[in-house]
Amino acid sequence: MTRDLQRTLYDCSRDELLELVQGQPRYRVDQIFSALYKEFKLPSEMTTLPLALRSAIDSAVSTALEPVTEDVSGDGSTIKFLWELSGGSRIETVLMLYPDRATVCVSTQSGCAMACGFCATGQAGFTRHLTSGEIVEQVVRAARRAREMGRRVSNIVYMGMGEPLANEEPVWESLVRVHDDIGISARHLTVSTVGIVPGIKRLAERPLPVNLAVSLHAANDQLRDELVPINRRYPLSSLMQACGDYLEQKGRRLTFEWALISDVNDRNQDTLELADICRSLRIPAHVNLIPLNPTPGYLVRGSGPRKVQEFCDRLVALGVNATIRRNRGTDISAACGQLAAGQPVKITSRPQ
Ligand code: SAH
Repeated sequence: MTRDLQRTLYDCSRDELLELVQGQPRYRVDQIFSALYKEFKLPSEMTTLPLALRSAIDSAVSTALEPVTEDVSGDGSTIKFLWELSGGSRIETVLMLYPDRATVCVSTQSGCAMACGFCATGQAGFTRHLTSGEIVEQVVRAARRAREMGRRVSNIVYMGMGEPLANEEPVWESLVRVHDDIGISARHLTVSTVGIVPGIKRLAERPLPVNLAVSLHAANDQLRDELVPINRRYPLSSLMQACGDYLEQKGRRLTFEWALISDVNDRNQDTLELADICRSLRIPAHVNLIPLNPTPGYLVRGSGPRKVQEFCDRLVALGVNATIRRNRGTDISAACGQLAAGQPVKITSRPQ
């Protein structure tokens, strides 16, 4: 599938680049790699290279992302990029600036096949997988933008459009590139999954100990089958087994994402079930709470701020390590679950 897609600049390994610039010494490729991944330069900007070499690269491979729009949140802390890919499909990338770090949220697929009803990407359905180069280029472009503002990207989260573990090889290759060539350490890389058990197991076998986030949202199979349909294939018992094994093997932080939906998964009973699940793991997980963000195709509302706080307090009282995640970018439809690549998302809540 992805192999049939065109190879773009950021898909090329060192050897492939060497082949493209036939006859050039190997150190040239190291120079090009460093310009691409350390300085975030395009070939045309690599002025220390001979002109003929720059044009050779340019004519052999091209970049993958055509900028469509860039939205900046009212407070300037969140930037959402909309890109067009070859073939015409669109994806989004979000850059979040915090006082102490800058995080890029990347997409791994155009659309998503997981069909979670509350997620705008899920509502739109699946279009295609991204190549590793298309994922890496999102990081490079966001890092370039961050640098214009005097900031360095420190963290990457695979939490944009798509399901990373449904596009495993390109996602893995992109993690390796971001780690080895851009130089972001594994503890600053997070892969978020809806809970694809075989994918979690394979990720555990890979060398980089990246952080794992699991979009849980429900702690009993009946409710989770409804909210996260892939649960019917990989129910909670097998998911928790895989999560526990991942934690033990990697010694990394495991996060459960929980989007609070009013009267659906914010009840007292939900805290008890969630606390039980957290206790069942040999190493404690961290629970990230976030009120459900509005999306056009899902009419149930997110829990109000008081309910969110109560839910968090109850979990903490039950011995669970839980925090409320600050919601970012709702005013530009860049918050969790709102990425829909250009489809109008009606905001029903006030920007924060
Ligand atoms: N497919 C992956 C990564 C993309 S979704 C995954 O499921 O983890 C990123 C996160 O946003 C997930 O935790 C997802 O459940 C959550 N999310 C989706 N829709 C949301 C919404 N409307 N409000 C809040 N979070 C949402």
